[in-house]
Parts: sequence; C-alpha cells; structure tokens
Amino acid sequence: MRLPFQMDLSGKAAVVTGAGGILCSSMAQALAECGASVALLDLNRETAEEQAEKILAEGGKAKGYQANVLEKDSLKEAHEKILKDLGPCDILINGAGGNHPLATTDKEYFSAEDLDEDVKTFFDLGQSGVEFVFNLNFIGTLLPTQEFSRDMVGREGCSILNISSMNAYTPLTKIPAYSGAKAAVSNFTQWLAVHFAREGIRVNALAPGFFVTKQNERLLYREDGSPTERTGKILAATPMQRFGRAEELLGSMLFLLNEEAAGFITGVVLPIDGGFSAYSGV
Ligand code: NAD
Repeated sequence: MRLPFQMDLSGKAAVVTGAGGILCSSMAQALAECGASVALLDLNRETAEEQAEKILAEGGKAKGYQANVLEKDSLKEAHEKILKDLGPCDILINGAGGNHPLATTDKEYFSAEDLDEDVKTFFDLGQSGVEFVFNLNFIGTLLPTQEFSRDMVGREGCSILNISSMNAYTPLTKIPAYSGAKAAVSNFTQWLAVHFAREGIRVNALAPGFFVTKQNERLLYREDGSPTERTGKILAATPMQRFGRAEELLGSMLFLLNEEAAGFITGVVLPIDGGFSAYSGV
C-alpha cells in the first residue's frame, strides 16, 4: 500500500473496529505499515482474520478478533486477548457502523397515496430496525470507547478517531436512524474531546463523503450493476463528481493521529468528501 506520507507508530497498539470492512481494513493496513501492532475487530471473525493475514503477509503485526461493538462482554473478552497479544491500546478507530434496509424508507418524499400502496413509508419503519441502526452507529462507538480508552489513562500519545458521515451535517433522505446516529457520533466526538482533554487523550472524527462499500452498495447500484438514481444525485452534489477511494481517508487519519502534526487538535470532525459539504447545490 502506498501511504500519503510516512509516520512512525512502532511500539503502539491500535484497535480498529469494523476492520473487516472496506474503509477500516484499509485503515488497519496503513496503521500496520507505519509499524503499529493492529487488533482488527469485526462481528465477522473470518473477514477480521483475513485482513489480519494480509497484513502479516506484508510483514506487519496484526491479529483478527471477533467482537460485537454492541455487547460489552464481547468487547471485554476481545480486550483481554488483545492485552495479552499486543498490549494496551494507544489508538482506537471506531469504524464499525452502517445503515440497514429495515431503517430505510422506500421513497425520499412522502405522499398520502403511499399509504394505500406497497411502499415502506416513515410510518412502517419498525422500532427494532431503527434501534438496530441507531445503536450500531452510536452505542457501537460509545461502548468500544469505554472499553479501550481505559488503557489510555495515564499514558502519553493516545488518541481516538470516530467515523462520522455527511449525514451528521444535513440528513440524507430515506435513512433517518443512520443520519441521527452519525450526528450523535459527531456530537459525542466533541463531548469526549472536552471530557478527556486534561488527561491528554485526543478525540477526533473523520466524516467521509461517499465511498462505495458493502453497507451502502444496495442504495448506490442495482443488482445488474447499473447506478441508481441516488448515485446520480450524489455525484451531481459532489463538486469533484466521483466517489471517494478508501485510500483517500488515510492521509487525514494519519494526520489526526500524529502527535507532532495534530497534538493541539481535538474535537474536530474532518470532512473528506470531494466538496459535498461545501456545495449548496447551486
Ligand atoms: P463496510 O460495511 O465495508 O464495513 C463495516 C464493517 O463493520 C463490516 O465489516 C461489518 O461486519 C462490521 N460490523 C457491523 N456490525 C458490527 C458489530 N455489531 N460489531 C462489530 N463489527 C460490526 O462499511 P464501510 O463503508 O467501510 O464503513 C466503515 C465506517 O464508515 C462505518 O462507520 C460507516 O458508517 C462509515 N461511513 C461510510 C461511508 C461510505 O460512503 N462508505 C460514508 C460515511 C461514513
């Protein structure tokens, strides 16, 4: 992997949740390439271990762990293993998250006729689907932070990076639970940055624009591979007129984790979005 710049993270242990996924596996690889020992956590043991194997094959230090960011016991169990395998956590990337069709309306705009049609409206979104998505993104950031940031107390050069989204600024249509949860992630990033400031633990977030990954591909491409109408709208609202590439998050990640470059930066949410959040549409 070609990194945007070199950085020395040797001697540091990094925990990455959602590390079996597209964006966070690339972050885990970059951290390992900088010399960190990386714990790759994912609900899906296979993908976490597969990504760890890739890092090992490149000569990096990594291990995959199964963990559910919504279950304290599961996180505790993974944490105990990580302490033995890699040592205390210096860097935490809270990457697990995503949307789900159960918390997605069929249409952008409601019309009264939808009530008589076979259309999933706002009124049809079930509490469990909404809670699932909200919790995955917000509680799934808070619980791993409680678990792993304890290791950071009393140690220098530790930092946390959350993953927010464009939804945190202005909600996207159809996905109210995901939007609300990412707004909560941005808010929590600021809250925790303040709370931990005097202990020297920095807390920041990335707000990626649009990257095609497992969790959103059904919204962006049809089964036959043709782009959906939503893809057209996204690209029209992204001044750079393209989706982002996973490796385009790495420079910002490394910068925010770097104590020399970003030692006085805490509580920021950095958009990496090809201009989406700057564009009014006119
Ligand atoms: P992805 O689906 O490729 O990866 C998400 C990973 O999280 C998967 O490997 C999944 O198994 C794991 N996961 C799901 N539930 C989990 C749980 N309960 N416990 C542990 N792991 C769990 O998606 P991605 O796009 O790479 O997402 C990474 C992060 O980036 C997410 O927080 C997402 O919301 C955010 N994000 C993505 C985009 C985008 O355009 N793709 C934009 C903004 C923000």
